[in-house]
Amino acid sequence: MARKKSRRPKPAPKKAPKLETCFDCPFCGHPGTVACTVDVKDRIAEAKCGTCKESYATAANALTEPIDVYCEWIDACEQANDGVDLRRRGHAEFDDDGYGF
Ligand SMILES: [Zn+2]
Repeated sequence: MARKKSRRPKPAPKKAPKLETCFDCPFCGHPGTVACTVDVKDRIAEAKCGTCKESYATAANALTEPIDVYCEWIDACEQANDGVDLRRRGHAEFDDDGYGF
């Protein structure tokens, strides 16, 4: 009585170790629509959203990774928003109600 060779479940194909170059857009919020490119020759790195077309460019060097460009963009966004957000987070709620203690 020959037993059927039990088939081993195929191992999932290993994902090639690929640098992540797609990120979530800080402007339109779409996941994975921001593509980062690093041009080492011209020392320019760019992050661009394929959905809302927002983009950010910065200086790059041989060590610049796409994630660095994206992080820098996020930082720049946060800095640009800081003035607005701080005021909102502060006591703006109380300023607007007109009680004027
Ligand atoms: Zn976008």
